[in-house]
Amino acid sequence: MLEENLKGQLKQYLDLLENDLVLRLNADTSDANGKKVHDFVTEIADMSPRITIEPSSDIKAPGFSVDQKGSISGVAFAGVPLGHEFNSLVLALLQVSGREPKIEADLKARIQSITKPYHFETYVSLTCHNCPDVVQALNIMSVLNDNISHTMIEGGMFQDEINARGVMAVPTVFVNDEEFSSGRMSPEEILNKLIGQVGSDSFEDKDPYDVLVVGGGPAGASAAIYAARKGIRTGILAEKFGGQPLETLGIENFIGTPYTEGPKLAAQLEEHVKTYPVDVMKTQKAVKLAKNELVEVTLENGAVLQSKTVVLSTGARWRSLGIPGEEEFKNKGIAYCPHCDGPLFAGKKIAVVGGGNSGIEAAIDLAGVVEHVTVLEFLPELKADKVLQDKLYSLDNVTVLTNVETKAIHGQDKVESVDYVNRETQEAVTLELAGVFILIGLVPNTEWLDGVVERTARGEIIVDKQGATNLPGVFAAGDCTDSAYKQIIIAMGSGATASLGAFDYMIRN
Ligand SMILES: Cc1cc2nc3c(=O)[nH]c(=O)nc-3n(C[C@H](O)[C@H](O)[C@H](O)COP(=O)(O)OP(=O)(O)OC[C@H]3O[C@@H](n4cnc5c(N)ncnc54)[C@H](O)[C@@H]3O)c2cc1C
Repeated sequence: MLEENLKGQLKQYLDLLENDLVLRLNADTSDANGKKVHDFVTEIADMSPRITIEPSSDIKAPGFSVDQKGSISGVAFAGVPLGHEFNSLVLALLQVSGREPKIEADLKARIQSITKPYHFETYVSLTCHNCPDVVQALNIMSVLNDNISHTMIEGGMFQDEINARGVMAVPTVFVNDEEFSSGRMSPEEILNKLIGQVGSDSFEDKDPYDVLVVGGGPAGASAAIYAARKGIRTGILAEKFGGQPLETLGIENFIGTPYTEGPKLAAQLEEHVKTYPVDVMKTQKAVKLAKNELVEVTLENGAVLQSKTVVLSTGARWRSLGIPGEEEFKNKGIAYCPHCDGPLFAGKKIAVVGGGNSGIEAAIDLAGVVEHVTVLEFLPELKADKVLQDKLYSLDNVTVLTNVETKAIHGQDKVESVDYVNRETQEAVTLELAGVFILIGLVPNTEWLDGVVERTARGEIIVDKQGATNLPGVFAAGDCTDSAYKQIIIAMGSGATASLGAFDYMIRN
């Protein structure tokens, strides 16, 4: 079942096992899926003398757990963790065997402080690039705390269960049988949701910064590195470290790197920032900015951070339609990530709202998986590049409707139909379908700066050549600004500019 190159890589990792492992297996080989899991587990065990298999009826079938001999780790996999989940399996093997997970000491202490029992289940698809982060975080929590256990469930093998539980987006996490979350989450976010945020008292002793960066995407990471390299006191806070690259699969225009993937780049940004003495504050949201003697940034938890200069790099998020049903059916048929959630709509009818590059790329991608795609575009023509449009029109399971306004999304527990109006004829139509992917562009994350820094009508922060805003000491970079183009390399460049601008301001004031 494992390709030769994967086997080669796995062999090297298995040499690093610190203790013997037992894979406790529950798989009925008279059933096709059971046989797949059985053969997969056997193939892995055959590769290392340190791994044995034991039958167990305690494990979700078809599936297996990863344990040290004589103890229970709580880490289990239902289905076959191949595709994007193969790394999750490799890490689980190493961590359960005794290799320390790579997490910060304070995070480890928070995980180990949990005394209530929690059993997590995560539904994934093997093509989902957001899923491994959640699976790996919950596996680490299981390894570090006996009160926590986690089973990854490969949705393709558990279709009936997915339908029964109403799972329409991956990763979807249940804890103690209650739905817990949907979408990518870092270990910090999982902990915040489970046991509450780190209180404002943890921020009380922080001295003022020279440069405080708000936002941890490409622009923010670049600004923090440029500031730290000047030897000045630098802090960075981010709601989700990594920013939009976390939602991006292939990146082919990051000059000097012909191909990389968004989550990998996001992890490298954090790693790079941490090679410098930067105070990194993750899962922290800024809610207010004020200029007194110093610039003051208030966090959602009430803490106030002070800095001589601030670089705003809060980027952008998916624009929503603002129509009835949109909020209600999020992750219940409304989706934003074709790579992640496409397989959940296999054989079903869906719509893509948005005829720009991201909408048409999604429609092409989804047409290969679903029964039929209807593209709904507000303008009289699609805005996507011609090469994408040519590909789209060559597909026979796609209908393109232009000059239509999407009005409402309906359903009982999940999406069942979408209403649109033909803007020319005013004809109102209801399309029966199972999913709506909304890809209508981005909106800058700058509402919290209302009335504080000058912004365009679209909400973009207005900056000059040094990245300076109208507020002295406050700079901005990346997609939250009025820069002409929004790209990773441009955001990184502007992060560097804003940081150098802030340094220049600091030495003159
Ligand atoms: C699906 C998709 C595919 C893309 N593909 C490519 C590509 O192939 N190549 C390319 O060059 N570009 C691509 N882009 C664009 C690129 O990702 C962006 O231009 C780039 O990420 C912008 O970086 P940024 O740092 O300005 O903002 P972001 O990446 O949006 O980062 C913003 C950061 O600010 C944080 N934040 C937001 N609000 C707050 C707050 N109030 N308090 C604290 N933190 C906050 C966020 O959590 C995040 O850490 C793509 C974008 C998308 C959505």
